[in-house]
Amino acid sequence: MESPVVRHLQIEADIVAEDDGRFVGRLADAYALRRRPLCLCRPMGVPMYVARIGRGFIVKRMPRTGKDHHPHCPSFESADTLFRPGTALRLPVGSKTSGRPTAIDVKVRFSRGPIATSAGAIAHRHDCRTNSGMRLSLLALLHLLWQASGLVEWTGHWIGKRRWWHVHRYLVEATRRVSIEGEMLSERVLIPEPFKVEDKTAIKARRSGTIARLLRDGSKQRMLLIGEVKAFRGVAEGHEIVVRHMPDVRLPLGNDQLRRLQRRFSPALGLWHSERGLHLIAIATVEAAAAGALRVVEIAVMTVTEHWLPVADLHELQLVTKLARYRGKMVKVLSFDGSGTQPMATVTLPDARPLPWALYLVPADANTDFDSAIAQSILSHPDRRAWIWRPADGDMPPLPYDGVRRASVDGEDD
Ligand SMILES: [Zn+2]
Repeated sequence: MESPVVRHLQIEADIVAEDDGRFVGRLADAYALRRRPLCLCRPMGVPMYVARIGRGFIVKRMPRTGKDHHPHCPSFESADTLFRPGTALRLPVGSKTSGRPTAIDVKVRFSRGPIATSAGAIAHRHDCRTNSGMRLSLLALLHLLWQASGLVEWTGHWIGKRRWWHVHRYLVEATRRVSIEGEMLSERVLIPEPFKVEDKTAIKARRSGTIARLLRDGSKQRMLLIGEVKAFRGVAEGHEIVVRHMPDVRLPLGNDQLRRLQRRFSPALGLWHSERGLHLIAIATVEAAAAGALRVVEIAVMTVTEHWLPVADLHELQLVTKLARYRGKMVKVLSFDGSGTQPMATVTLPDARPLPWALYLVPADANTDFDSAIAQSILSHPDRRAWIWRPADGDMPPLPYDGVRRASVDGEDD
């Protein structure tokens, strides 16, 4: 358990602690003299600013500097808002030898430095109490990879420019930064490369080689597969998944498995069926079955927009689709399942001036607890502005276009 951190600030030549009686006076001085206090959580100090609230003063972090603070500093916020460097997670990939799913440590690193060695520790943005580690679902792993690969980011400049070719490349790159039991995730995952008829034979050979290697020995008899679902198809023995860019590989799915999938992921599947142009991404643990065939052990799916941005429901789709036309950068926020009860923004506009925006969507069934939790979340992020849409109350309010320019000049005004 971390002890609460008392912030120390340097104002001019003076170093003053937050619980020091002189603190407020020094803030007032800094405000009057327009000095930037330095947060001393880092040796060089991190510049902050003083804001006046009524008759009082508070110290706030500068926009986009959350990641510059020490992870234990109250002003710290990781760059990607979900993970801290060295975050370790547990992934139930399953072990064939025991026949029971086993949790496998996943350690994530975002720098090129060495992977953190503290096993089992998870530093999650919302809940530091989960220090004992948490099991990460397949969907959460998919979210993690989407996030780590930058596929949650978008600007209107990229319209028409993001294809499976990019998604594949970024995902593969991200799997090299995630390790499972000390082994790169890239050593356990198959992400089908873009299929080209003229390279058909070479692609097929590479894929067969990868599958054979991944499923080779005892500890590796299961592998992960991430791909775009082209269709679910009924066959004599039940059903099968047709994965895009893998035209010659079928993933059989038993009746029970299909029913479970439909039950658990009905919002994602419903969304995928309801709108043209959306993609359905599947992540599955797969094992070798008889005669070189594959068998799905566990599967999860996620719907993404035409630009490959994850969306959970129609309202998110509406919001993300509208924002996607603007030049300003947007980031789709993804949560882990079981990531805590604090509401998270659906989208952020991190480059908006003078302050970033956090866009919240309030679920139709939200109660007053949710409202106060949103208020809490907004209060705990004084360095960004909040936009809230309650679809239960009506249409989407005007978007915060402040600092966000439209990508195409089409004369349309909304
Ligand atoms: Zn700090």
